[in-house]
Amino acid sequence: MALVVQKYGGSSVADASCIKRVAQRIVATKKAGNDVVVIVSAMGDTTDELLDLAKQVSPLPPGRELDMLLTSGERISMALLAMAIANLGHEARSFTGSQAGVITDSTHGKARIIDVTPGRIQEALGLGHIAIVAGFQGVSQDTKDITTLGRGGSDTTAVALAAALEADVCEIYTDVDGVFTADPRIVPTARQIPRLSFEETLEMAACGAKILHLRCVEYARRFQLPIHVRSSFSSKEGTWVFTDPKTEGTEMEQPIISGVAHDRSEAKITVVGVPDKIGEAAAIFKTLADAEINIDMIVQNVSAAATGRTDISFTLPTNDAQMALTALKKIQSKVVFDSLLFDDRIGKVSLIGAGMRSHPGVTATFFSALANAGVNIEMISTSEIRISVVVDEDDVDAAVNAAHQAFDLDADEVEAVVYGGSGR
Ligand code: ASP
Ligand code: MG
Repeated sequence: MALVVQKYGGSSVADASCIKRVAQRIVATKKAGNDVVVIVSAMGDTTDELLDLAKQVSPLPPGRELDMLLTSGERISMALLAMAIANLGHEARSFTGSQAGVITDSTHGKARIIDVTPGRIQEALGLGHIAIVAGFQGVSQDTKDITTLGRGGSDTTAVALAAALEADVCEIYTDVDGVFTADPRIVPTARQIPRLSFEETLEMAACGAKILHLRCVEYARRFQLPIHVRSSFSSKEGTWVFTDPKTEGTEMEQPIISGVAHDRSEAKITVVGVPDKIGEAAAIFKTLADAEINIDMIVQNVSAAATGRTDISFTLPTNDAQMALTALKKIQSKVVFDSLLFDDRIGKVSLIGAGMRSHPGVTATFFSALANAGVNIEMISTSEIRISVVVDEDDVDAAVNAAHQAFDLDADEVEAVVYGGSGR
């Protein structure tokens, strides 16, 4: 008998009929002889609607209360799903994150899991029940308050519980048939990827591919837990994410490029006229670090000989930009830079593939494709298995399509079906 952990995203439980369909799928897994633990997200766009509601009563809701409010979304879907399963004649028990033993730190809105003690889940399984757990939430070890793990956090709940329960597999059910070579909403001929390594998936998640939460993939890699991404609307095989001992450390069978990811959620700040002296860049980035701002790409230009000054540009989540600008203005008299420029009309396009390590010319092909599509590159950054560029926001779709074509990723016929979700 296997222990299967399944996670259903918001679009898979968007309404009563979706919940009934998911219940059938869960019961079928149970009937096949497995122990089943299910993690659910809030129904459809519930989390966004709750956030809108909070903003209507307060421009800056206290983190503790916001978490109380948002976690109610997952409680609605877990209870309804347990009822739907009971209606099919099977025993199901729903549990909040706290009841399931998801222990976090006390940072409201983006708490980190520090321990998982799933005693009650094991007990339920021991009694032959199906356990349903509210995703995206936990309880703080110190304050005992309810916390949330950050948007999209149910994936992380699923993998954390699967690891703690030593599950055989963690299935992530979503509204597309797996991970695609690009977002099918932008590239209709995107192809479904049968198999990905943890490192490629990490790069994809970090570069804006919305299919899996970054922390969930980090967690899965740490525990070497296979993730199976598939659609709850079809029975297609989906995408497996795991370390394959056969190809691990070799270039065997690895495609040069696995996919093209894009991200429109970042902005660019340029610090103009920074004195080209030791310690200036350190002062700037220390200030940003102290404000808990995550920086993505950084570019420092060659300093102009005449002035001995240089420009430093970096990208960061648009949501953090105001905070960054305020923090930097405070140190302007100390660092004596000239001015700050802000641009939120940018997008990042990334090419990801483990095979690029051993194949020269990938960058040349990528940049030529962008040039032919009339796309100007503003910034560049690379890792061993990734090349990212920042381009004008209006050029993102063209850039993604150009890269996808240049590396022959297009499928012969349209494969991608987007079954649900408002894309919100
Ligand atoms: N309901 C939460 C969100 O929309 C968590 C999740 O879906 O994973 O962000
Ligand atoms: Mg959601």
